[in-house]
Amino acid sequence: MEYRELGKTGLKVSRMGFGGIPIQRTDAEETKKIMEKLAAEGINYIDTARGYTVSEEYLGYGLEGIRDQFVLATKSMARTKEAMAKDVEISLKNLRTDYIDLYQIHNPSMEQLEQVTGPDGALEALMEAKAQGKIGHIGLTAHSTAVFEKALDLDWVETIMFPYNIVENQGEALMKACEEKGIGFIDMKPLAGGAIENPKLALKYVLSNPSVTVAIPGMGSVEELEQNLEVCQNTIKITEEERAEMAAIREKLGNSFCRRCGYCAPCTVGIDITNTFLFAGYLERYDLAEWAKNRYSALKVKASACIGCGKCEERCPYHLPIREMLKKCAKDFGE
Ligand code: SF4
Ligand code: SF4
Repeated sequence: MEYRELGKTGLKVSRMGFGGIPIQRTDAEETKKIMEKLAAEGINYIDTARGYTVSEEYLGYGLEGIRDQFVLATKSMARTKEAMAKDVEISLKNLRTDYIDLYQIHNPSMEQLEQVTGPDGALEALMEAKAQGKIGHIGLTAHSTAVFEKALDLDWVETIMFPYNIVENQGEALMKACEEKGIGFIDMKPLAGGAIENPKLALKYVLSNPSVTVAIPGMGSVEELEQNLEVCQNTIKITEEERAEMAAIREKLGNSFCRRCGYCAPCTVGIDITNTFLFAGYLERYDLAEWAKNRYSALKVKASACIGCGKCEERCPYHLPIREMLKKCAKDFGE
């Protein structure tokens, strides 16, 4: 296993980490088995979030007695000081620890970033938690390149998490800048949220980029972990045949894969387009179908409400046929 310094944090992390979304569909016992296997294999980076329902709690159970072998990272969507202070306490309790290595501001928009860093913003709570020794470092996660670019100039940002995979390489230049500035780059969605059907190839692609400090594929079973480990244990050299396969994946997904940049918003009737497509992606993956349906059912405005005005498509930089895609979502989800 290859290890890297996580930017200037001084933390040494394995290049493959563990993404904590899929354990929501398993249970605490399976999570424990995965944690034990991670420890045995020297994979030491764990990512979760306050928003991943039971993920922090399962991890807290699974890490009992071995927590010190890991760099533990979580994140919160809280934007105010008060809400963030509360979330830090909940994370500590859920994760059954008195110290979280990395706490991240989870996916703020440009406007929310202003709020987070302003008076009584969430950053103040993280700074206090850091001074009190409850957390070690502060990072930020983003889906839009605008927020990523802005984050590079914020002196409190020690790590940035951003999607990067075979079909989402819009952040490549910023990743390079990240590396040059000594900011740790955490690659979320290395498998494009499950859209890439060849996980080994997907992982190989991201780990072959030196700007990626750590990639965090989501794993919900020991079998999935074993599959990913095979990639990390071999020399990461991409063959011509694999390059051709990657080009074919890009070709296939390029015109239908939502990068979750959010530029299409706001929808005229209030459809949450990015999350609708995200949940539709998970629906296609058998194992997360129930989770996707639950999440989708919580959306206030369903895909079927689209009136076909086309405003969103004018704003989508990838020229996705959003109206057609929403029709499919409405059919697949049945509403
Ligand atoms: S085409 Fe549909 S999804 Fe797009 S803005 Fe109009 S109503 Fe919203
Ligand atoms: S539909 Fe287009 S604009 Fe909207 S989030 Fe997806 S990729 Fe971005």
